[in-house]
Amino acid sequence: MGKFKFDKWTSLYAQRIGSIKSSAIRDLLSVAARPDIISFAGGLPHPKSFPVSEIKNAFEEVIKKDADIALQYGPSDGLIGIREEICKIMAEDDIKIYPDEVLITEGAQQALDIVGKIFIDPNSCIITEAPTYVGAINAFSAYEVSAKTISLDDDGLKIEELIRSLEELEEKSITPKFLYTVPNFQNPSGVTLSEERREELITISKKYDLLIVEDNPYGSLYFEGEKNRCLKSIDPGIIYLGTFSKILSPGFRTGWVAAPKAIIDKLIQAKQSSDLCCSSFNQKIIEVYLKNNDLSKHIEKIKKLYRVRRDTMLNALDEYFPEEATWTKPRGGIFLWATLPEYINTNEMLAEAIEEKVTYVPGSSFYPDGKRKNSMRLNFSFSEPEEINKGIKILAEVIKDQIAIVKSFYKINKKPDKGGQQ
Ligand code: PMP
Repeated sequence: MGKFKFDKWTSLYAQRIGSIKSSAIRDLLSVAARPDIISFAGGLPHPKSFPVSEIKNAFEEVIKKDADIALQYGPSDGLIGIREEICKIMAEDDIKIYPDEVLITEGAQQALDIVGKIFIDPNSCIITEAPTYVGAINAFSAYEVSAKTISLDDDGLKIEELIRSLEELEEKSITPKFLYTVPNFQNPSGVTLSEERREELITISKKYDLLIVEDNPYGSLYFEGEKNRCLKSIDPGIIYLGTFSKILSPGFRTGWVAAPKAIIDKLIQAKQSSDLCCSSFNQKIIEVYLKNNDLSKHIEKIKKLYRVRRDTMLNALDEYFPEEATWTKPRGGIFLWATLPEYINTNEMLAEAIEEKVTYVPGSSFYPDGKRKNSMRLNFSFSEPEEINKGIKILAEVIKDQIAIVKSFYKINKKPDKGGQQ
């Protein structure tokens, strides 16, 4: 503990800092890192998914041949070599772009922050999925946004609900700044936007002149069937966020935005004031790695690693979870989403789970209003299959205990109470 034990600066902080939720995930990760805990809480790639020796070779090559570039400041939009490689990656998804339509960022997370910075004024309206990625909620909240949420089903964003919301906003003369969506194996729910809905979404976005921010960290991690079409391949006007975090390594903290040049120019301004440029060193290593290796072969290995873990988790849920619970069955990615009876509060239940040495993230963290409290996000990429089986079995017992407690309370009090729903 440092010298200052109390925060005596509270009256000085900007109001916006109060609107950023202390991330339940961040708080949880310190517990989840304990070796005796089986963690379904984080969103970490499996360490076996890192191509260590290929990265070592790339590192050595960079130091030998390109040290003067790698150790120097770089351009704010990123080094040209990596941006060219990204154009090739995007071309495989039928997205034809030029390097000046690509901006390198400190992971997709910085992209979310600077998208918020250039579009959101205090009380601006944006549209998000509910549940949605907590890091996006926090990035946009920092700019004092008001979020209109659209619920999801097994086919992703509910288009009818989106249309209704757009009509309501139009009636109130409110123009939403953008729609933020994670169409593939969504964090946190694991659901994917169906092919029909992709077409419908683009049609609606054109009709209402709605800017789409497509965040796609998991799209290439599909375990069966075909790869889903990117929204940006249907409409080039979309802002697309990509990242190397889940297909190479999050340690590089390298992602990108692909967007029309006019938007990229504004994003560059926003980024300059926060970090001048990304690490030239990391960009060079990734560029050399991409030139010397076949990224898609590497992604195949990651998919195999995660598919086994997804299957193990789904089988364990089938075997151990109580019949009152339901869960999504993601076709890829690293998360699934379990829903418990309405009277179970997963925030409160977490303490019991940690006591039994399992963690998850309570679902309320993923709702901008934090209200729905009977769900949980479960990560399957990080733990070993045996741990996944064991952890789900333990968690199932914790849930069954909670259900039994509430049910016996009902019996005594007769009147059903919607407990966890606040
Ligand atoms: N978007 C989504 C949907 C994510 O799940 C994540 C990481 N968990 C990010 C953005 C940020 O990723 P990174 O900054 O590591 O690229």
